[in-house]
Amino acid sequence: MKLEEVSDKVYACIPDKAASGHSNSGLVDAGGGLVIDTQFDLAHAQRMLELFGRVERTPPRRIVNTHPHPAHIWGNQLFPNAEILAHRVAPDGVQAERPEDLQRLRDAVDSSHPGVVARARALEEFDFRWIVEKAPSMFFEERLELRLDGTEVHLIHVGRCHSQADTVVHLPAERVLFTGDIVCRDLTPLVAGGFDAWLSALDWILELDPEVIVPGHGPVCGIEGVMDEKAYLAYVWLESKRHFRAGRTAMEAAKRIDLGAFAAWAEPERLYLNVEQAFRELAGVKEATHPSAAIQGPWELAQSWNWRRTKSFGER
Ligand SMILES: [Zn+2]
Repeated sequence: MKLEEVSDKVYACIPDKAASGHSNSGLVDAGGGLVIDTQFDLAHAQRMLELFGRVERTPPRRIVNTHPHPAHIWGNQLFPNAEILAHRVAPDGVQAERPEDLQRLRDAVDSSHPGVVARARALEEFDFRWIVEKAPSMFFEERLELRLDGTEVHLIHVGRCHSQADTVVHLPAERVLFTGDIVCRDLTPLVAGGFDAWLSALDWILELDPEVIVPGHGPVCGIEGVMDEKAYLAYVWLESKRHFRAGRTAMEAAKRIDLGAFAAWAEPERLYLNVEQAFRELAGVKEATHPSAAIQGPWELAQSWNWRRTKSFGER
């Protein structure tokens, strides 16, 4: 994990790898300090605090949760006196995952399902045992504009894209944008809100004309990060529509979609969940994926890729 100065008084905390459990955090060192997203578990949150402590001596007064996913909010409890700001999401939009559920999954290395074992291994470096969920203490609807010792910080709700409620943090004078997970670098995005909303949000972000973008995961970037995200989402949406109209299942579609250069992003098997989401949107179904399906589908897709790779090696 490293600390990066992205502008005067604005910092990013970037983990060593891009993966769904390793999220970025931010710090605006003004007005008592504002931290953006708080990591997946207490050890990682503690490391983030140590890095931020190099530039901000006192505990931050405010926290922003960009969206209610565990990898971005389970360090909240390390800020007992901070005000935690978040978009007001409907109760049905709140993440259903509990720390004890993820700890059980993390410990399931002896499971008979190889997909569960793979997920357990990916969670091995985290520890969810001591997490007490700390809910936001102040909510906003569309927009909240803060003035921290003269530094303008705008919290802007961009709709249902990656989650039920995604917020970006914009510093207009510094031209810095913290995107939460609506932009990820080197990690396959996960659509759990909606394709249309997400693509519109990315267009809108381009109009903000940011110079530095701190994505939800992966290295700091410029607008090329937004362009790459748009390209992936537009491609998967288009391909999903094509296969949906041909009457295929989401799994059949996912197996036929050629990811090309996008296959190099971490967790490419998320493609299955994205296609499934697209199919639900196209069919007008609103319910979210059943949690158990979140392991089986991606695992089955990854298996088909392995099989194809092994087969083509064998044919050479
Ligand atoms: Zn994330």
